[in-house]
Amino acid sequence: MTSQYDFFVIGAGSGGVRAARVAASLGARVGICEEKDLGGTCVNAGCIPKKLFVYASRFRHEFSRAADFGWKPTLPEFDWTTLVANKNREIARLNGVYEKLLRDAGVDIFVGRGEIASEHSVRVAGQQMQCDTILVATGGRPSRPAVPGAELVLSSDDIFHLSSLPKSIAIYGGGYISCEFAGVFHNLGIRTQLVHRGERLLRGFDDDVRSFVGDRMAKAGVELHLGRTLSRIENAAGVKRATLDDESAIEADAHFAAIGRVPNSAGIGLERVGVELGPRDAIVVNERFQTSVPSIYAVGDVIDRVALTPVALAEGTVVARSLFGDQSPLMRYDYIPTAVFSQPEVGTVGLTEHDARAKLPSVRIFRSSFTPLKETLAPRDTDSVDGTLSVHRSEVLVKLVVDGGTDRVVGCHMVGSGAAEIVQGLAVAIQAGATKAVFDATLGIHPTTAEEFVSLRTPIADNA
Ligand code: NDP
Repeated sequence: MTSQYDFFVIGAGSGGVRAARVAASLGARVGICEEKDLGGTCVNAGCIPKKLFVYASRFRHEFSRAADFGWKPTLPEFDWTTLVANKNREIARLNGVYEKLLRDAGVDIFVGRGEIASEHSVRVAGQQMQCDTILVATGGRPSRPAVPGAELVLSSDDIFHLSSLPKSIAIYGGGYISCEFAGVFHNLGIRTQLVHRGERLLRGFDDDVRSFVGDRMAKAGVELHLGRTLSRIENAAGVKRATLDDESAIEADAHFAAIGRVPNSAGIGLERVGVELGPRDAIVVNERFQTSVPSIYAVGDVIDRVALTPVALAEGTVVARSLFGDQSPLMRYDYIPTAVFSQPEVGTVGLTEHDARAKLPSVRIFRSSFTPLKETLAPRDTDSVDGTLSVHRSEVLVKLVVDGGTDRVVGCHMVGSGAAEIVQGLAVAIQAGATKAVFDATLGIHPTTAEEFVSLRTPIADNA
């Protein structure tokens, strides 16, 4: 039987849309289905709306700094409804952009949940499509805490749609999302408590980064409950009260869990054709993202490798090119730059000091922390525009991890304003294999924060 499609994609998020577009540009007949809004988590309940919220919250610091430079502001009033409405308008525009990109590429879009009917067919909204190859790009969803009262806890799918700004919030988890939203809500002026089971935030990041972020968040006024877990949550006379494992209680208007995400691999017919699943029900794939069923591929959060948009985009590109173009290079997972838009912000690429020491016979560490120029006019300790919220001088941490054997810079870490933008640039050099000598030979742009990365001359002593 002639296939209707060469390539049919289930899930129009970052990885699926990229794969569909690249495949179509290479001449494949492509269909894609999506049951929710085009663009997936990143566009609708992740990176984009989150960053807009981060921008909104950063104005508090900017208003405060303005006073240091002679402006006499009173803290303007914040209106949550305006932010949410403007955010929704922008997301709707992006949904339209995604649709246009797909249609312009010649991809057929189907609205509805896709289900694998056989190794070469997908069912969507009562229609059955024959296809040579199928790509599963169904992403992930937030994990829910397994405690009594969990239905009272919001997830990252809910947090973007709150009808009003709560007066207080308790956030559970110590990873990307919890750190980012702790910064958002704290800087929007509401009491923010963060409960994390570990002793430090951001497991997997460099230890100096983790300490620096935790210290600065606490200093800024986020109330950290470290080494604690949520035991139960109840609604007592209109007050949402969480009880932690030490029986201490937290009351807050809103409780929000960001304790990781799980792959969306259920209910899409994978078991019908025998696609192998691994830990956490992630789809198992080979180096070209082919599953245990040769005609079925999978990319992005549903394979549970690295849950980042640019990774899903790159994986989608590898699949499309492998199937319809030349045998493109394999996906590389080393030197993936990433940022946490916490406040202060984190940017990082390459090895942590801990991992470098475990992997390499000799390592040199360069590190500096300082107050950037823009912050130097602020009073040393705290500053407040409205007398109710302290805004601290925002400090910066920069760190390079160097392979002592080759002089190659194998890790670059920054906390502070502009970290994501700066590290994105440095990631190019590091991807290209720049040595510390190359960093040393690079002239700085003065006065900037980024110049510190090319001014680090003396390695810190071991254990310093
Ligand atoms: P993360 O994996 O970043 O963090 C999860 C946090 O929840 C960790 O602190 C973890 O603790 C904790 N945790 C996990 N299970 C439990 C549990 N049962 N009880 C209590 N705590 C628990 O996940 P997020 O949900 O923050 O984000 C999901 C993913 O989305 C990220 O990993 C990232 O890949 C992506 N993302 C990327 C962003 C970006 O690029 N800026 C922004 C937001 C999300 P422990 O450390 O002890 O395991």
